[in-house]
Amino acid sequence: MSAKLSNDATYSLHDLKDWSRPGIWLAVLGHPIAHSLSPHMHNSALEELAREDSQYSDWNYIRFDIPIQELPQALDLLHAKKFRGVNLTIPHKVEALPLVDRVDPDAQSIGAINTLWWRESGYVGFNTDGYGMETAIKRNLQTRLWDLPVVLLGAGGAARAAAMQCLIRGCPEIWIGNRSEGRLNELVGDILRNYPESKIHPFLFDSSLVPLPEEALIINATSMGLKQEDSLPMDISCFSEKSVFFDMIYTPPQTVMMRAFGVQGISVCNGLDMLVYQGARALEIWTGLDRVPEDTMRKAALSA
Ligand code: NDP
Repeated sequence: MSAKLSNDATYSLHDLKDWSRPGIWLAVLGHPIAHSLSPHMHNSALEELAREDSQYSDWNYIRFDIPIQELPQALDLLHAKKFRGVNLTIPHKVEALPLVDRVDPDAQSIGAINTLWWRESGYVGFNTDGYGMETAIKRNLQTRLWDLPVVLLGAGGAARAAAMQCLIRGCPEIWIGNRSEGRLNELVGDILRNYPESKIHPFLFDSSLVPLPEEALIINATSMGLKQEDSLPMDISCFSEKSVFFDMIYTPPQTVMMRAFGVQGISVCNGLDMLVYQGARALEIWTGLDRVPEDTMRKAALSA
């Protein structure tokens, strides 16, 4: 059995160059990365799996702080050292696309990868963020992505994955709002290139020209709400209590938007389960198991 490393340790490219520890290794790369809950979630799931099947006692998940310019070399080294699985977070999800051997078709249309799976010829890239969001919304808000028109707030990387997942699942119509026009137009242009038939309605937060549906699945994919003192990015009084609201943010656990939608009688959910389900799906890809201990992953994320 390989010696266990601390969930709170962060490694660098320099450490990776010398990596020669025995065992099966998994890693998350990001910059910054010190806040990542992924080592806690994955190592607790692996511990539970090891209680039933001793092969998993050799599996370990660690984090590397890798700035964007080090990504190509880091991926080459991880592959050479046979890291079985890799997660990618900010700022690597888009930059890594041309650096892997193959990309899963859904991830290709999302335009970003967050999970890499080691194969002899190179890494295969997947995107499990969309799956994580979809599963969290289905289980917590009893809503499927095609049940209601979607109002998506944000036009960054997370919004892109959310929009593409909605369209892959046959969502009928999406309103996409953003603060800045440039990023909004870029996202809408990319969506229409991939899904020319889709009904997309872009709007800016400070404009009231586009009427929004009263009953909708509203998804916050902006960073508004990360700070307690953040305000609402737009007026939300148009939404009826038959709407549901999903916030991708999970710290704080109750965001300013969750509070405001809740006051209107709208069901709300934060982004913790999205994190858990994207991680669980990645672990399923790496282990080949149909089911991994999601409850253990959630408990580990909550207590970390
Ligand atoms: P990006 O930096 O790519 O995008 C940030 C988005 O927030 C942009 O649309 C930006 O608008 C908007 N924004 C930022 N500041 C403001 C503001 N003051 N007022 C209005 N809008 C603002 O980040 P990501 O897309 O990667 O992440 C977005 C959020 O989703 C983050 O909070 C992240 O923590 C969360 N997330 C959660 C995940 C989970 O597993 N639960 C997974 C991935 C992300 P503009 O274009 O105008 O700058």
